Amino acid sequence: MSTHHHPLKQPVYDPQTSFIYDDGLWAIIDQCANPSIEQVRAVLEKARQCQGLTLEETAVLLQNTHPELDEELFAVAREIKDTIYGNRIVLFAPLYVSNHCANSCSYCGFNADNHQLKRKTLSTDELRREVEILQDMGHKRILAVYGEHPRNSVNAIVDSIKTMYDVKHGDGGEIRRINVNCAPMSVEDFRVLKSAAIGTYQCFQETYHKATYEKVHLKGKKKGFNYRLYAMHRAMEAGIDDVGIGVLFGLYDHRFELLAMLAHVQELEQNCGVGPHTISFPRIEPAHGSELSERPPYEVNDDCFKRIVAITRLAVPYTGLIMSTRESAEMRKELLELGVSQISAGSSTAPGGYQKALERQHDAEQFSLGDHRPMDEIIYELVTDSKSVPSFCTGCYRKGRTGDHFIGLAKQQFIGKFCQPNALITFREYLNDYASDRTREAGNALIESELASMSPARERNVRTCLAKTDGGERDIYL
Ligand code: SAM
Ligand code: SF4
Repeated sequence: MSTHHHPLKQPVYDPQTSFIYDDGLWAIIDQCANPSIEQVRAVLEKARQCQGLTLEETAVLLQNTHPELDEELFAVAREIKDTIYGNRIVLFAPLYVSNHCANSCSYCGFNADNHQLKRKTLSTDELRREVEILQDMGHKRILAVYGEHPRNSVNAIVDSIKTMYDVKHGDGGEIRRINVNCAPMSVEDFRVLKSAAIGTYQCFQETYHKATYEKVHLKGKKKGFNYRLYAMHRAMEAGIDDVGIGVLFGLYDHRFELLAMLAHVQELEQNCGVGPHTISFPRIEPAHGSELSERPPYEVNDDCFKRIVAITRLAVPYTGLIMSTRESAEMRKELLELGVSQISAGSSTAPGGYQKALERQHDAEQFSLGDHRPMDEIIYELVTDSKSVPSFCTGCYRKGRTGDHFIGLAKQQFIGKFCQPNALITFREYLNDYASDRTREAGNALIESELASMSPARERNVRTCLAKTDGGERDIYL
């Protein structure tokens, strides 16, 4: 394997013409139906080289009917996760800034036709308060979420991002990376968004099946399938090279969706020079004011969901996979092993939700819950149950290491050199500043065992950084 460098390039595309070909994708699905045990094993064997999969190979795995091969699939996913990522897990908190929305997506509680919903766009003060609460839990990364509404213009979004970056609460509280999930915009507006020093720009296609897309998007700008499909082309044209894509599982056949999402990945790699930085796996959750969300037409059960995550790990080994903490603790543990690399900790999906949760705790006064409890508990569970190292690292984009610049061996060495050390250093900072005693104890034990498996030179280097952190320095990263 060699060092491949993929600089961002100006994409050339026809925004009127979709690059998702339904007939072609269905033909692949049909061709690869009912694969033999040998066919499935051959694809699994190839996947172990960490070079990704073709659409056909992915379709074979998606249609495996031999249950005894599921364990083999999961084993390969675990192996890839271990070789490429190790046991780090990146944590972030979603922050809903505004639920004002002019669209009507039939699966979402924010839809404009839901007159039951209390609409709220956080004021600067309210937003600061939410960020303070997250900082007190130890968060360094935020995913800021906005409905699509004239109130949430790019300028309003940029202002809110500035507000969030400016908050410095308590000793060492600060947000070091803000990823943004908002409606797609013009190239010009994306340039403005980029100027706010955002991390990843996230936007999910929801469904890549145009007919289904048109059925569930009833109103507003989101109705245009192609406009959303080319969102990432426009973002990249504007110089945003960390983008996150996703499917909302439950709307249409998951085999089609996964293949189409891979076609999207290939299109971005070929035409923009860089694939997506992350892929998210939302599953439709019940939402007030959305009938569809109560009974999703293509509901994905837990077993199927696990296979989807594992197959994605094999198909795009170098892309970060994001899962929400709304998944149960048991699922979370399994999906982490299968290749999820980021999870949200803290899961309020209402603007002002973190403040409300605090008030409820204080009102209830049933237990004297520390404000830090949810995050601290998730971390304790990660450390003790899955031996994962929670990482608060935000080094790369601040050092200009963005886009998927390196693949193959180079990326693996890169992770050993930067990601693994930075995970330990930022985790130590968290433990010192925010953790409960039992979490600190368990966390420090894990750090020691991680150090023991490093080369002596690297161990020395990391120990120096840990000592500085213990001495009160913050935000140290390689
Ligand atoms: N308005 C922007 C948009 O639609 O892209 C960003 C905010 S929207 C709330 C963010 C994501 O929430 C959507 O892309 C969708 O995948 C997800 N979502 C909407 N309704 C959901 C539901 N009932 N369950 C789980 N995820 C949902
Ligand atoms: Fe609005 Fe986004 Fe919800 Fe659709 S998914 S109703 S655009 S917030």
